[in-house]
Amino acid sequence: MQKALPVLYESKALCCGCTACFAICPQGAISMIEDDEGFEYPAIDETKCVRCYMCLKVCPIKGKQSLDDRQMGSNY
Ligand code: SF4
Ligand code: SF4
Repeated sequence: MQKALPVLYESKALCCGCTACFAICPQGAISMIEDDEGFEYPAIDETKCVRCYMCLKVCPIKGKQSLDDRQMGSNY
């Protein structure tokens, strides 16, 4: 079974449009698409994506979330 397509952001509040995911994708599968307000958000071409998840690892917002998880975990 093919691995799941990465979810770069669940809502626009969870993406600052930094383009890090776009820059790191080895497949060139990510495009930055401008929305109605002129902000650019990444979109993945699922036919090009090889599910390496480098885009998720480089995302500063997701990195922060996992750091928070680790900090919570250290309380136990
Ligand atoms: S999982 Fe890999 S190939 Fe797919 S969009 Fe992210 S960086 Fe690109
Ligand atoms: S790396 Fe994360 S915050 Fe930056 S553009 Fe991609 S999804 Fe948005």
